[in-house]
Amino acid sequence: MMKEAIAQAEEALLHTYNRYQIVLDRGEGVWLYDMEGKKYLDFAAGIAVFALGYHYKDYDEVLKMQIDKIMHTSNYYYNMPAIEAAKKIKKISGMDRVFFTNSGAEAVEGAIKTARKYAWLKDHRTDHEIIAMEHSFHGRTMGALSVTGTPAYREAFAPMIGNIRFAQLNDIQSVKAQISDRTCAIMLETVQGEGGIVPAREDFLREIRHICDERDILLILDEIQCGMGRTGFYFAWQKFGIKPDIMTTAKALGGGMPVGAFLMTEKVGSASLAAGDHGTTYGGNPLATTAVSKMIDLFEEDHILEHVAETAPYLEERLDELVEKYDFIESRRGSGLMQGLVCRGAVNAVISRAMEKGLILINAGASVIRLVPSLIIGREHVDEMVRILEESLTELAKEK
Ligand SMILES: *Cc1c(COP(=O)(O)O)cnc(C)c1O
Repeated sequence: MMKEAIAQAEEALLHTYNRYQIVLDRGEGVWLYDMEGKKYLDFAAGIAVFALGYHYKDYDEVLKMQIDKIMHTSNYYYNMPAIEAAKKIKKISGMDRVFFTNSGAEAVEGAIKTARKYAWLKDHRTDHEIIAMEHSFHGRTMGALSVTGTPAYREAFAPMIGNIRFAQLNDIQSVKAQISDRTCAIMLETVQGEGGIVPAREDFLREIRHICDERDILLILDEIQCGMGRTGFYFAWQKFGIKPDIMTTAKALGGGMPVGAFLMTEKVGSASLAAGDHGTTYGGNPLATTAVSKMIDLFEEDHILEHVAETAPYLEERLDELVEKYDFIESRRGSGLMQGLVCRGAVNAVISRAMEKGLILINAGASVIRLVPSLIIGREHVDEMVRILEESLTELAKEK
């Protein structure tokens, strides 16, 4: 049954993904079920999307009610869910202005346009530069791809948007070396996701913030993967007492609903994009923003950040045991419930074996096992994950 469905998929869908050979059918809490009824413990959460797992409390009900009212209005008009969501996301982020998008890449596009317009209003030059980081990931649209620091992703799609320079994450000298009088923005993920779960260091962030302040360069932090509670803070930068000028978010923002946003301070908001400069048909629609609003309510009501802060050290401890025990695993890195196991070699066999045994894991680059579970996981789920991962590692070591 599942095999046949996969064959049909391969007939109809464009071959842009190498997918695992299962068809997922439904989810419940932190568990997933494929169409043949097999159960999996989910440590991927749809790539850090299902922050509250599947069917959390009255999340579904609120969305169903909104479907019965109205799903889409266009941005010619106001709608209450977008107003509510905007107020709430301002409150949790401390940012001043928000623009809702339909995806992460679209939020990144908006951030780039905002930075360019801000700089253009100051000097009307059209050769401003953006500094991004090697090994970064910001999405697959042309602007987002242009600031993505993996040449292989970009190569076939050249030319990119112009005037992007790359520096090394956590190497302040490499950033300084790229700065010119035309630099309008420095952009990075507070914790690199696809690039292998690499947190930006506090001193690096502080120095970048300082450079940006001195030269009126905008700091853009991409919080699409590491934001919305994953590190124990709503946004990962909040841990460091610095603040970006522009921030992007998506993935967990709607808890499963496709929605993103870019946000900015009043300083930027009042001197960048204006009426007619930017738009979207779907963005900020009442269904997506109902999800955003409900997510933030649930985070507050159920103290999700506190739960992450409690659970993450246990996950770290259990993962560190694996680093000690298995030669194959070199180290652990990450922040909160965004963790990577850096391995000595490709991890796809481990992930496939774990999947056979009922554990969903994903990679971040060829040699990093990425753990981005729902934020509601408990210690028992961590233990179960470790048990299956250990079994998989042991078996594969024996087979070699
Ligand atoms: C996933 C991701 C994006 C792109 O988001 P999409 O919704 O896939 O367009 C951008 N930046 C980061 C850090 C991401 O993890």
